[in-house]
Amino acid sequence: MSAKPVVIIGAGLAGLSCARHLVRQGVEVLLLEAQDDFGGRVRTDLVDGFRLDRGFQVLQTAYPEAKRQLDYAALQLRNFEPGALIRTNGKTVKMADPWRRPQAVLSTAFNEVGSFADRLRLARLRWHVTQSTIETLWAEPDSTTFDYLRTTCGFSSDMIDRFLRPWFAGVFFERELATSSRFFRFIFRMFAIGDAALPTDGMGAMSKQLAIEIPGSMCRLSTRVESIDDGVVRLAGGEVINASAIVLAVEGPEASRLTGGQIPSPVSRSTTCFYYAAPQPPITESLLVLNGDQTGPINNLCVPSNVSPSYAPAGQSLVSVSVVGSKENESTGLELEVRRQLRDWFGSDVDRWSILRSDHIRHALPSQPAHFRDRGTLKPKLADALYCCGDYCETASIHGALLSGRHTAETVLVDLGINKT
Ligand SMILES: Cc1cc2nc3c(=O)[nH]c(=O)nc-3n(C[C@H](O)[C@H](O)[C@H](O)COP(=O)(O)OP(=O)(O)OC[C@H]3O[C@@H](n4cnc5c(N)ncnc54)[C@H](O)[C@@H]3O)c2cc1C
Repeated sequence: MSAKPVVIIGAGLAGLSCARHLVRQGVEVLLLEAQDDFGGRVRTDLVDGFRLDRGFQVLQTAYPEAKRQLDYAALQLRNFEPGALIRTNGKTVKMADPWRRPQAVLSTAFNEVGSFADRLRLARLRWHVTQSTIETLWAEPDSTTFDYLRTTCGFSSDMIDRFLRPWFAGVFFERELATSSRFFRFIFRMFAIGDAALPTDGMGAMSKQLAIEIPGSMCRLSTRVESIDDGVVRLAGGEVINASAIVLAVEGPEASRLTGGQIPSPVSRSTTCFYYAAPQPPITESLLVLNGDQTGPINNLCVPSNVSPSYAPAGQSLVSVSVVGSKENESTGLELEVRRQLRDWFGSDVDRWSILRSDHIRHALPSQPAHFRDRGTLKPKLADALYCCGDYCETASIHGALLSGRHTAETVLVDLGINKT
């Protein structure tokens, strides 16, 4: 590498998106990543023939930026069925999507969660988010998601507590639903107009697809940056790299550390995901199972191998169980509680399940509470030749990370006098 490169720190979706845009315009970059592979929060590991994403997650196919940047056909996406199963009062009831599964409308209308009026409210909300543009949804007044659902939409407590709360707690990683209602409307629109999908080779395939265009000579894995200062990047081992520009594509708390607090550190939302190998799947559907009772540690579970058989070896199933807001040192005791609840739900078959791994993700998402956008979004340019990108700069999502990476690349290109996008 001859001239000083643009150094991008962090190879999650935002850093990869930024690097790929710059590389496509002929810019020399150097992508530094602390972990031993690309992807950050979006990685998949092969364990005993099972594909384990680093915590349960899905691609919402309607994300505009994912559609723009990813090749869906190459990812061979496998879709979840719309709707959910709800565990409540010792039973499993189905909340099907009556718009996409009209044959299921009767069971949906008369199952035990919420009232008929709640179904009409759901229809009205769906109509509202699908008829509006993303821009008008973001321009609407903000409040907590809970206040929006309860007061603005008028949903009953029953409908919120047994269906909407566990569903969106699994998206926001917080059960109070204190997250911005603007973000909620955006996500609800994505669920309404698209599918929740898994790539055949696991979520990490998205990261690999972005990384493939970045020459190996421009990437260094297992390389942690200790500090930055005026065009100089200092690595954990003491090595110093001179940069023409620096892009921080690390998580919000790390961006705050590296900038000495210039970027405020977001509050972290955390989750723990338990993966089990099961001889038989506990459900046969490709549906999310929500905990509709307010008891026990489990928020949601699913069987990824029902959605995409490549997630488990032949003759076995992969069960993924998500807990919201847990702490790292709780994992062992937590697994016992999770297993107790699973046994309660699915009986003694659970005794034949073996745990494959538990993933505790302390910073799964940056908190984006009501009014988080009132002072605008964080601009890509922090100072001369210093930029940032990441989900915390946009929305706490795959869409937000990809979009932020592209916006930052475009800002860098303008500063370099390269105006093509
Ligand atoms: C369990 C889980 C489930 C999720 N589910 C969904 C979902 O269903 N839908 C959705 O849209 N979003 C979901 N998300 C959110 C989504 O994955 C993230 O918003 C997105 O991946 C963030 O990308 P990023 O590039 O901003 O950050 P990251 O992926 O965190 O990338 C930052 C990178 O910087 C590296 N780094 C940090 N410090 C240093 C350093 N000092 N030196 C070098 N490298 C460093 C890190 O190792 C990391 O690779 C989920 C997240 C988690 C954890």
